[in-house]
Amino acid sequence: MFRKSPIIRWRSYGDRYKLHGHKCTKCGTTYFEKKGMCICGNLEFSEMDFSGEGKIISFTQIHSGPESFSEMAPYCVGIIELKEGAKITAQIVDCKYEDLKIGTEVEAVFRKFYKSGEKGIIHYGTKFIPKL
Ligand SMILES: [Zn+2]
Repeated sequence: MFRKSPIIRWRSYGDRYKLHGHKCTKCGTTYFEKKGMCICGNLEFSEMDFSGEGKIISFTQIHSGPESFSEMAPYCVGIIELKEGAKITAQIVDCKYEDLKIGTEVEAVFRKFYKSGEKGIIHYGTKFIPKL
């Protein structure tokens, strides 16, 4: 494995880029999107921040994705189960597809997503890298 760019650790993110979520006040189930009702039937949630640490529960390699991501192809995308339980679909970077396994531990990093518009505005967001 090798790293192409400096790593910005999750804990150094500004609040704007943290993964905010919602936690059921009754059973503790966590969600990214606010739900009307938890799977346990409770209607109340508290706000929370995710740790950014988790493991891969599914992954694949994309060879022809959306145009804005075409310069990155081929790239890996996976479903990450965070320590807190919620799942997120995200790009997995700084690794080879062949090196990934179900259960590989990963951590969130802050990275460029794509450029858009005439001015080439750069969009950033959360991706994941395997923990060493
Ligand atoms: Zn619940």
